[in-house]
Amino acid sequence: MKVRILGMSVQNTARQQYASSYLVNGTVAIDAGCLGFHGSPQEQETIRHVFLTHSHSDHTATLPIFLENAWTPTGECPRIYGIPETLESVQRHIFNEVMWPDFVALSRRMHPFLRLCPLEVEVAVSADSLSVTPIPVHHQVPTVSYVISDGRTAVIIAGDTAPTNRLWEVAHRTAGLQAIFLEACFPNALRALAEASYHLTPEMFGREIAKMPPGVRVIATHIKVRYREEIIRELAALGLPQLEIGECEKEYEFSEMLVGP
Ligand SMILES: [Zn+2]
Ligand SMILES: [Zn+2]
Repeated sequence: MKVRILGMSVQNTARQQYASSYLVNGTVAIDAGCLGFHGSPQEQETIRHVFLTHSHSDHTATLPIFLENAWTPTGECPRIYGIPETLESVQRHIFNEVMWPDFVALSRRMHPFLRLCPLEVEVAVSADSLSVTPIPVHHQVPTVSYVISDGRTAVIIAGDTAPTNRLWEVAHRTAGLQAIFLEACFPNALRALAEASYHLTPEMFGREIAKMPPGVRVIATHIKVRYREEIIRELAALGLPQLEIGECEKEYEFSEMLVGP
């Protein structure tokens, strides 16, 4: 399984993640923070499945741009997945004829731009050759993380969350789990802001790692760009060997671990 943290293509800030989007095996996206700014329309057209973690703009901002880029008058339209609360917010606050034309209504009258696919928490759906399961986490609006498995290896893309428990219970029983992408939004000095906005600081991040199964790579993402160096210093000070700093545009490849001789 291949996972890429999408960077911003609008300027030379490849390591900086202003908004959240991930691409799995090239055709399945998690969130659309900068998805619509990434690559050519032909490349975006190959992305058939977009799973939203929640409604916040840094995870949905370029969804309209992506749908416009990916649309062709004859091709199959992308499927947009999310829990009902997220899909309702997207319809009410983005495709509302003010922020953007109502692509949902237009899709009933012409060749569709998108198909909305509501998810039930903890119920897996298939997308290409992947199984994707939403697990509720603790954030300011209804939010899920995704457990993604190809049948042999699995990763968790945790999206935005304050300290949480159910996700780590699920992680412990996920077969072939190799990596967890987890946010580290704010430096320790901004703990009050992290708590008010339901995010993590490096110190809180360290306590989440203690709840995870051992031997799994933990990749820190969603590092606020203004505080990036401070956050990376504080994460390094945790001294955890399984911890890596997420790099945009790097291809993370996960394959089956061979056990025994
Ligand atoms: Zn959020
Ligand atoms: Zn966010």
